[in-house]
Order: sequence, then C-alpha cells, then structure tokens
Amino acid sequence: MSRIAENLIQVRQQLEINAQNAHRTASEITLLAVSKTRPSGDLREAYQQGQRNFGENYLQESLDKIAELTDLDICWHFIGPIQSNKTKAIAENFTWVHTIERLKIAQRLSAQRPTALPPLNICIQVNISEEESKSGCLPEELPTLAADIHRLPNLCLRGLMAIPKATDNINEQKAAFAKMKSLQLELQAVYPHLDTLSMGMSGDMDTAIAEGATIVRIGTAIFGQRPKN
Ligand SMILES: *Cc1c(COP(=O)(O)O)cnc(C)c1O
Repeated sequence: MSRIAENLIQVRQQLEINAQNAHRTASEITLLAVSKTRPSGDLREAYQQGQRNFGENYLQESLDKIAELTDLDICWHFIGPIQSNKTKAIAENFTWVHTIERLKIAQRLSAQRPTALPPLNICIQVNISEEESKSGCLPEELPTLAADIHRLPNLCLRGLMAIPKATDNINEQKAAFAKMKSLQLELQAVYPHLDTLSMGMSGDMDTAIAEGATIVRIGTAIFGQRPKN
C-alpha cells in the first residue's frame, strides 16, 4: 500500500475517534484533502483510496490538475486567497469556495457561475484570531456580509471557515473554534440551512472536531510535509 493510502486510512481512523469522543457521527464530518503543491499523481492515489473532496489554494496549479484528472469524479474546493481577476475560472471549475471575505468577490463569482451548474457553495472566511495580517472578515462584519451573499442568485451560502492563529496550546485552539461555533449558531438563527463549519488542519483536527467542525482541511497528515519554498 502507498504511503498516501496508509496516511489516509490513519487520518480517517483519527477522525472516527475524534467524532466518537465528541459524541458525533463521523459521517457528518467531511475530510477535505488539501493537495496544494502536490502532483496530480498524488491526488489519483488518494482517490483510489476513496477520497473524493480535494482542496486547492493556487488557481493555475489547480486548473492544471483539474485538466489532468477529468476522468475522476472529484469535488473541487477552492481554499486560497482570491483576486478579482481569478473569479471567472473559479466560478467555472469549482464546487465550493471557502475563502470569501468581501462582497465584491462574491458578486463576481455569482455573475460568472455558469447557469448550467448548480449554485456555487460558499463559506465566509472569518479572521477569528483578529490578526492584522490574516485574511477573513471580522466577526462584526458577518451579519451584513452574510445577508448580502444570501441574496446572490448563483451562490449557496453554506457556512463559515477559519484558519486560527497556529498554536500548540489546546486551550487557545479550543477558544478560537468555540467562537466560530457560536458565530455559526448566531447566523443559523437567521439562515437555518447553514450547515458548514470549515475548520481544523493537520495540527488541530482533534480540537476542531470536538468544537463542531463539519469540514476538516487536511494536507500534511495525508500527503506528507510540503517542500518549503
Ligand atoms: C494548506 C492549508 C491547509 C492544510 O494544512 P495542513 O497543516 O497541511 O493540514 C488547510 N487549510 C488551508 C486554507 C490551507 O491553506
């Protein structure tokens, strides 16, 4: 068995254990394999092991892989920063976008989403640790941004996403994820259909699942360390 296949099995077992510990069912948590910088052969290996959801950060790199893997039934998620001039290709090639932080990008994605495709699934990225350098809207901006996105015809607002400040301190991880959960609950009072909390990476998946993540975005634990550039 390949290393990627072995890692994938291990991550799934870990997800199962985390779900049980949190009194949740594993089937309500989607494992998103984050494949940035990985060649399409690595994605194919994961696919052969049953992986269907893949997350990509860099548009040109992802378009190359999408073209190389058209024979596979992959659900593609865009999880990188988005510039205005990239929205058309994203609207045409992806099923999910996790990194919406301003209305202008959402408007462009809605306008450019091909009408033959179902609405594009959207998560609003929240700057939950309120770091100046970080992407995402501030928590207080959420109600207005959610209302505006909710009105766009070719988007389906699904929930929230965050990349909390990297820390080994479990209590800090917990606090950030719990804050995300409470923001989701506030939005669900207005939009009951919201069902997604995209949070948790290789270093904090356990805590994220304990606090209510419904999509965990896992790169390193599946594909190994990324080369440093
Ligand atoms: C790279 C990346 C991940 C995966 O991180 P790992 O630590 O490798 O699991 C998750 N989410 C986003 C937005 C990323 O850019």
